Amino acid sequence: MKFSDFNFSEPLMQGLDAIGFEKPTAIQEQAIPQVLNKKDIIGCAQTGTGKTAAFLLPVIEDILRHGHVGLAALVIVPTRELAIQIDQQVEGLGYFTGVTSLAIYGGKDGVSFGQEKQALTEGADIVIATPGRLIAHLNLGYVNLGKLRFLILDEADRMLDMGFSEDIEMIVGYLPEKRNTLLFSATMPPKIRKLAKALLNDPEEINIALSKPAEGVVQAAFLVYEAQKLGLMVHLLKARPLTSVIIFCSTRKSVTVLERGLKKEGIKVGAISSDLDQQHREEVMIQFKNAELHVLVATNIVARGIDIVGVELVVNYDVPRDAEEYVHRIGRTARADATGIAFTFISEEEQRDFHDIEQLIGMEIKKIKAPSHLGPSPDYNPQKRSARKPQHFRKQRGKR
Ligand code: AMP
Repeated sequence: MKFSDFNFSEPLMQGLDAIGFEKPTAIQEQAIPQVLNKKDIIGCAQTGTGKTAAFLLPVIEDILRHGHVGLAALVIVPTRELAIQIDQQVEGLGYFTGVTSLAIYGGKDGVSFGQEKQALTEGADIVIATPGRLIAHLNLGYVNLGKLRFLILDEADRMLDMGFSEDIEMIVGYLPEKRNTLLFSATMPPKIRKLAKALLNDPEEINIALSKPAEGVVQAAFLVYEAQKLGLMVHLLKARPLTSVIIFCSTRKSVTVLERGLKKEGIKVGAISSDLDQQHREEVMIQFKNAELHVLVATNIVARGIDIVGVELVVNYDVPRDAEEYVHRIGRTARADATGIAFTFISEEEQRDFHDIEQLIGMEIKKIKAPSHLGPSPDYNPQKRSARKPQHFRKQRGKR
């Protein structure tokens, strides 16, 4: 299939050309005709499949066909980073179309709030928003949603996990009932089905590689004691001249400790976690994208949605707290047709969780002992290991 098969307008085709997309990905092939035909969609797809363009392309095309009549599409996302990234994709794909967009998210100053207000009243074509910030505007009564034709919920499972369920309900209450709703989620637990049932009208369901790592990711795991992890990380980073590495930690504390440890070794490293303010996070992100920083240490907040091109290596410094998370994290490497490497460090007490991950993704991952200069490493025997604390308890342990 080719993009020209969708009969997109010329300015949109030019945008695709400029951004370098040659042919549609699987989710784009399936979703675009449906959206152009005004069908509601449930898309079960992880980041890395091209799902953003799968909804942006038909929405931009629809706006081109209708002309600019005010706010036409609202994209609700769980995080600021994802909002910014989707906004950038509108800018790229829509470069020649004149379609306007704005990302609306918390943590900005009063001036930005004023700019957001202006865009919401005067009508940017597409608004991408985190729930809390959008509600702040909606409550002030000036947002004109009368012409809205598309509601897109991106990373819906993540939004529910983050407790945005009531916010979403409140936002939807402001929207016209006659609209197209597109819901994307990496997983389809019953609560997502329930949400979809409440918001979507006879939706078409599209499933793309549920809970499977993107093809092209070379995965391996290291068996280590907790105390060996820093040494192993330094060893791996010094063994190859990599310039784009993301390391995920489960807690903000381990982000800080690891960043400090790597800095001491002269590695160009930066960190982002929810401890840092938005401006700092954006600066670190830019430096990483520009390769001024070679290594980015992060908590889970950047695991989803963030699109950094050409990440060579993703490391799970801690085994993710749940199996789906693993798939999201390693989705940062090997984006759309590229290849990448994903390593996971497994301490003794994390073996059981790692075993669960292998079950979920239906594949056994090669396990490697730590290099001998780090001392002996544990055997892999997940059945004998006691599990970490149960999921519901662990999830309550503060912000990540
Ligand atoms: P997403 O799943 O939307 O986060 O997209 C993952 C990555 O794939 C992003 O870097 C997109 O720019 C890229 N991408 C999306 N669609 C295509 C396509 N048709 N051809 C090449 N790259 C694409």
